[in-house]
Amino acid sequence: MFRQKSFQDEKAKLYLVATPIGNLSEMTPRAIEILKSVDLIACEDTRTSGQLLKYFDIHNQLMSYQNFNEEKKAQEILALLEEGKNIALISDAGYPLLNDPGQKVVSLLANHGYSVVPISGANAMVNGLVASGLIAQPFTFIGFLPSNQSDARKKLEVYQKFPTTLVFYEAPHRIEKMLHTLLDVLGDRSMCLARELTKVHEEFIRGTISEVLEIAPTLKGEMVVIVEGYQEQEQPIDQSLIHQMVQEAVLQGMSTKDAIKKVSSQMKIAKNKVYQIVHGVEN
Ligand code: SAM
Repeated sequence: MFRQKSFQDEKAKLYLVATPIGNLSEMTPRAIEILKSVDLIACEDTRTSGQLLKYFDIHNQLMSYQNFNEEKKAQEILALLEEGKNIALISDAGYPLLNDPGQKVVSLLANHGYSVVPISGANAMVNGLVASGLIAQPFTFIGFLPSNQSDARKKLEVYQKFPTTLVFYEAPHRIEKMLHTLLDVLGDRSMCLARELTKVHEEFIRGTISEVLEIAPTLKGEMVVIVEGYQEQEQPIDQSLIHQMVQEAVLQGMSTKDAIKKVSSQMKIAKNKVYQIVHGVEN
């Protein structure tokens, strides 16, 4: 066990800094301050991040940290922290690690007892989820499904019966195929497609999967797909069986009230529901 008290030691730290997902006003003062103060910024695309830094007048050195070189770069960052250098990790947009590189360096540094400090900011998943109109928690963040159709189906089948809201990332050129897969595997559930979040063309399309599928070929931009979780279908109640059970209990000498109570507990059906069936009351 290791307890990280982020600001109670003098050791160098890794800051995970979230950057805007479109609207540059969502860059926080704290993020700017950290990016100015660290010794080095690790990022995905140095050109993309270079533009962000220029916009915020941040003059700092960039180091490329990408999926293909993550292991090697994580070791380099560990060595830098051992020399007492503070490092920030950013991605092209939003939070590092969330469908972006970073996992390797975070676990490596945490295992070596260094503080890994998150600096809050924009994120596409959370924005899409909270405004979707679907149940916000519990939710499962899946990110991108594999591009290969049969791999996508296999991955999705794992979540088929999850009762949690499901959140996906998708690219516009794959959205139609992806929605077909969702429809086939999950059925025609309610969903929301949130696109171009925080930007001028921000849009939320709420409906069933088949409805959104109809307009999918026209949809452009960056998108998050939020789908309602699996709902256990209520078994239809066999009303004649309930009548029969109550009648039998009454014939054996029970009061109707007690018979309803007994059948309710035997059949795991609410007492008032059994009452309504027995007395022919509409609900
Ligand atoms: N790290 C990012 C985050 O924290 O949200 C996500 C990076 S992932 C490589 C890129 C995907 O995130 C896009 O393909 C899209 O699905 C989603 N995304 C990013 N920005 C978005 C935006 N402004 N609106 C909707 N979705 C967005």
